[in-house]
Amino acid sequence: MNLEELWQAALGEIELGISRASFVTWFKNSRLVEKREDGTAMIACHNNFSKEWLESKYHKSILRALRNLDQDIRSIEYVIHDVSVKTERHRQEPRLVVPFENQLNLPEIHVDRETNLNPKYTFETFIVGASNELAHAAALAAADGLGTKYNPLFIYGGVGLGKTHLLQAIGNAVRLKYGNKKKVRYVTSEKFTDDLVSAIRKQSVSEFKANFRQLDLFLIDDIQFFTSKEKTQEEFFHTFNSLYERNKQVVFTSDRPPRAIPAIEERLRSRFQGGMIVDIGFPDIETRIAILKSKAQEVQFEIKDDVIEFVATKIQKNIRELEGALNRIIFHAKMRGRQPSVQEVDALLSEILHHATRIITAKQVIKMVADFYDLSESDLIKKSRKRDVVKPRQIAMFLLREELKTSYPAIGEKFGNRDHTTVIHACEKIKKEIVKEQQLGQEIDLIKEKIFTS
Ligand code: ADP
Ligand code: MG
Repeated sequence: MNLEELWQAALGEIELGISRASFVTWFKNSRLVEKREDGTAMIACHNNFSKEWLESKYHKSILRALRNLDQDIRSIEYVIHDVSVKTERHRQEPRLVVPFENQLNLPEIHVDRETNLNPKYTFETFIVGASNELAHAAALAAADGLGTKYNPLFIYGGVGLGKTHLLQAIGNAVRLKYGNKKKVRYVTSEKFTDDLVSAIRKQSVSEFKANFRQLDLFLIDDIQFFTSKEKTQEEFFHTFNSLYERNKQVVFTSDRPPRAIPAIEERLRSRFQGGMIVDIGFPDIETRIAILKSKAQEVQFEIKDDVIEFVATKIQKNIRELEGALNRIIFHAKMRGRQPSVQEVDALLSEILHHATRIITAKQVIKMVADFYDLSESDLIKKSRKRDVVKPRQIAMFLLREELKTSYPAIGEKFGNRDHTTVIHACEKIKKEIVKEQQLGQEIDLIKEKIFTS
């Protein structure tokens, strides 16, 4: 048997022991490249990522399979060997080096615990164009004339157009200017509701109230998610009023104008009318190009102009999607060690644009995660506390939350009727760990790839 045959035979055996999805992901591009005299088999993986996986997760089965076929083999070494870079066609293109720290899709890094502000959302990183000029100016003015101008400020616009970014930028600007002298807090309406509900349960409502009423700047995101639950709305109104009456700045965002949010009471709605209401529209082509360039620069990724223009022409209505496309391009460039061509980007984008309109169900996500970690769906859902089940389960919850925007209670329900606080805990935990553990972030990126391209 030559090396190739030996490896194919070993793969045949390995394949029997793991799920199809894991097999394809981790073994597809691997090769047995050398068998040394000392009994070391050298396995080439096409990137660092699969190398780590083979080493950490499949080493035993690989060794067993190889030794069954060839008793001389005693140990294995894994090396990286990018098959695709070797061919002539690819060699002509400049090899591209993207430092690994500049991971794609960096999750909410260093979010301040007290203010909930993410330092990456600033006015400096916000690209201004015709579609967001007014909102940007109003946000600047609100930050500048804290509480005296445009109060309350209400920003609305479609998904992924920069509302959260602007809202956070106001907070970050105020922090920069005043440090701890001004109290700032960012919350989503959902979080506000959740925290209030848990304060009621713990009988600490007055503490909760006091906490919000001492603020100088209150940033509340996505108020369309406010439910008409009487108690939360009542409390919210009082919080808002108490701040407003003392000229403390309040800024809201929503995906629609105040009049179109039925759950909001009339008295709150009329307060909005008294302040400033601005909208953010779809970015024009120049703005889209500028955003792509600036994001690529942020992660020190060189991207060709024709690719940028192509992406900006294809994706028109959502800046998050624009970033998503860029991330995919970077991901592929890294995997292959070279820049993709416009044709390749076209293929990548058609996947994105395709799945943007496709409906991905919770069941599919759960199945993907289960397959990925070689577990059964029921393992993932049931109440086992085994470590190798707990982490994948948390990841599945996290993905349902982040990618499908499923509510916490609904996620809990899908996982054997767990309490929504368990789900919140799981999501927060994964969010934090991604920042610390590079590998986890990569795993999650890969699962996402699978979910969106399957
Ligand atoms: P929304 O809250 O409206 O759904 P976000 O504020 O979360 O949208 O924006 C989605 C992504 O697009 C974020 O990563 C944000 O940084 C980016 N983004 C949106 N608008 C701009 C802009 N004008 N300049 C730079 N980045 C932007
Ligand atoms: Mg938002």
